[in-house]
Amino acid sequence: MPNITGHTELVGLMAYPIRHTQSPTTHNLAYDKNGDDVIQLAFEVDNDSLEAAVNSIRALKMLGSNISMPNKTVVHKYLEEVDEAARLCGAINTVVNTRDENGQVTGKLKGYNTDGMGYWQGITEEGIDFKGMKMVLIGTGGAATAIAVRGALDGIAELQIFNIRDKFYARGEEIVETINNNTECKATMNDLADLDLLKEKMQEADIFCDATGVGMHPLEDISNIPDPSFFRPDLIVTDTVYAPRETVMMKQAKEAGCTKIYNGMSMMLFQALIAIELYTGKSTDVEYMKEKLGI
Ligand code: NAD
Repeated sequence: MPNITGHTELVGLMAYPIRHTQSPTTHNLAYDKNGDDVIQLAFEVDNDSLEAAVNSIRALKMLGSNISMPNKTVVHKYLEEVDEAARLCGAINTVVNTRDENGQVTGKLKGYNTDGMGYWQGITEEGIDFKGMKMVLIGTGGAATAIAVRGALDGIAELQIFNIRDKFYARGEEIVETINNNTECKATMNDLADLDLLKEKMQEADIFCDATGVGMHPLEDISNIPDPSFFRPDLIVTDTVYAPRETVMMKQAKEAGCTKIYNGMSMMLFQALIAIELYTGKSTDVEYMKEKLGI
């Protein structure tokens, strides 16, 4: 239990529904470890109450707030500034109350997307330099968009995005256009039903990511990949799913002899640690957090 005093500063989490969230556990553990007199609390906020909630960051001199659904694509309207990757993604998950030269919060709010940063920091922490790599990415939803945009900005050379022809497909075409117009990365949108093309691109790729909900409940018994022959043993294989810790896709990759296989836990951890650093300026001991959170 943190020692809350008259000096304790507040970070929010604004989403609906929100009561199932793990975020305050992670944040409060980190603030405690870093010796910061800061707590995070979760607030039920939907699109109707978002403007007033964001104004409360200014009025209460909060350090900022994490933002989750349904507010990620709306909150930019109420901010002074938006980071480039968040602007290109069209989604914000972290709002920072910027500080002046004396370290005092200014009430000028800046939005970031730390999901993509978190994914790529997790890769970097594994000792992998992803600059110049070719990537195959399945998915065009929130997680996939954040990973694609941040990867393209930070040096992924080629991005082959695949998705089923559902309501997300057109969004994928927009992401590809955004990436090709704003970064050095060459992005292409493909139909996930074209399995020959998927296999060909996976054979050519350095890194693969499944950023769909396939592999987690209620789709925990299936994979987007038909069989292990799609994987080359030296392919870096990642899944954004973290429950279960090993998806059907990850088991297939293991069967194919892949040794660099990572689930979504590090993305989840690092998106939080990056947000915490944006709020307090302090980095957190990663090994301590992994041990305490059982990662
Ligand atoms: P979303 O709803 O925005 O996007 C869902 C994506 O999955 C779309 O591309 C959709 O076309 C695809 N999809 C849905 N059903 C499918 C099916 N049956 N077959 C193939 N594709 C299908 O969701 P999101 O927020 O982008 O989340 C996607 C996944 O990433 C989820 O598993 C989520 O838990 C995970 N995620 C993890 C982290 C993390 O920190 N590790 C963060 C965000 C999301």
